[in-house]
Amino acid sequence: MAKAAETTVPEVGLDEIVALCKRRGFIFPSSEIYGGIGSTYDYGHYGVLLRNNVKGEWWRAMIGERDDIVALDSAILQHPRVWEASGHLEGFTDPLVDCRTCKLRFRANKLEDAQCGRKPSKHPGEFAECELTDAREFNLMFETHVGPVKDTASVAYLRPETAQGIFINFKNVLQFARKKPPFGIAQIGKSFRNEITTGNFIFRTREFEQMEMEYFVPPDEAPQWHQFWMDARLRWYTDLGIRADNLTLRAHGPDELSHYSSATSDIEYLFPMGWSELEGIANRGDFDLTQHAQASGEKLEYFDPESGEAYVPHVIEPAAGVDRAMLAFMVDAYDTEEVEGRRRTLLRLHPRLAPVKAAVLPLVSKDGMPERARETYREVRAHVPAEYDEGGSIGKRYRRQDEIGTPWGITVDGQTMEDGTVTLRDRDTLEQERVPAEGLGDRLAAKLAEPWRPPKLD
Ligand code: ATP
Repeated sequence: MAKAAETTVPEVGLDEIVALCKRRGFIFPSSEIYGGIGSTYDYGHYGVLLRNNVKGEWWRAMIGERDDIVALDSAILQHPRVWEASGHLEGFTDPLVDCRTCKLRFRANKLEDAQCGRKPSKHPGEFAECELTDAREFNLMFETHVGPVKDTASVAYLRPETAQGIFINFKNVLQFARKKPPFGIAQIGKSFRNEITTGNFIFRTREFEQMEMEYFVPPDEAPQWHQFWMDARLRWYTDLGIRADNLTLRAHGPDELSHYSSATSDIEYLFPMGWSELEGIANRGDFDLTQHAQASGEKLEYFDPESGEAYVPHVIEPAAGVDRAMLAFMVDAYDTEEVEGRRRTLLRLHPRLAPVKAAVLPLVSKDGMPERARETYREVRAHVPAEYDEGGSIGKRYRRQDEIGTPWGITVDGQTMEDGTVTLRDRDTLEQERVPAEGLGDRLAAKLAEPWRPPKLD
């Protein structure tokens, strides 16, 4: 695994990813017809499919391949006392400074990433006229009101993390899931943070999706489970095609730890803007269950029938962002190459992540080929997500599929009409094989289940 200090240079700029996302309808700036609203994005067709695949792979790793984790989907709006007990009302803050000259506000610990409002481009505090205030704490939770009256009694918050919904359901799950520590509760859902320094496309937005799992363990087993989940989560990214040299594990220093954490390590990825957090793996100790037990008066503990004693489990939390993971998968997969004098751009995505697995293309729109291709398409899509495309030249259609990361292209041509075979084109090697159209769906489903290695490693 590479060390953050030996920074390798990112291969692709964020601008290229943003352009591809727009060109192929993965992601659009939100409210674009009204001029956009900062750092908010809408996901188009392929964006939705890729995101769903990222989430599906996470569910597969958490639930499909284990039997000690159960799923939960808790509400975004929760009782305001949840956030009091969790420490978010008091401690979920960023230190901010204001500039009295340009009237802008910046994160005090990220001045080097911020841009002063004046030109030429400089960081806050670098112009002689800059007048920065002392840092003040600013809460990142979005506040809203529940019910028709806007008074202090009706204040509620949009959740800034999905984890608390899990802790407040600990007792329900323990009762109904018939689990005992070590066991986990997993959840995927939207979270909201009034981030001050947004930017870098979907890396940091105010509305985003998290994939969090709280793993409840006997207290003396917490360190070993922390290590277990760090290893397991790193493996998840490499198994899905991120090259190990672009990932690193970085332990938080004592001054960086969140208010609830006794140890946290971040999985960092070499994003186009440099090494940045992809996922955090925290040892939350018994902080959350103890806080909620005290504030609610409910006992949040596990009674161990073997020892005859009750204890408060400790919690290991792998917390990932769907959007950040999607960005990392796209960045790692992005490639361009020269083929027969033409430049092609492609996403070398793991086939399981690819939005579409197979594209069925008639060579030309005549001589019965579209009808024959539609037949093959119907057979293939019963087994794997597929697309049919007959518009434009075959080269143009392949380029489109390359850019959305489709691993297999199937072309129906003159020979198909004679002997029932089609060409099967590999996105990465560009090799074309002649195979029977019959049974192609089965064949591709089997290929999808095969182990896969990032072609950039070869
Ligand atoms: P950062 O230091 O980047 O603000 P964090 O340490 O506050 O992140 P956590 O609270 O650990 O983040 O959240 C877990 C994961 O949720 C992060 O690793 C990231 O993938 C994702 N995440 C957090 N904040 C955002 C955001 N504003 N936009 C997109 N994803 C986010």
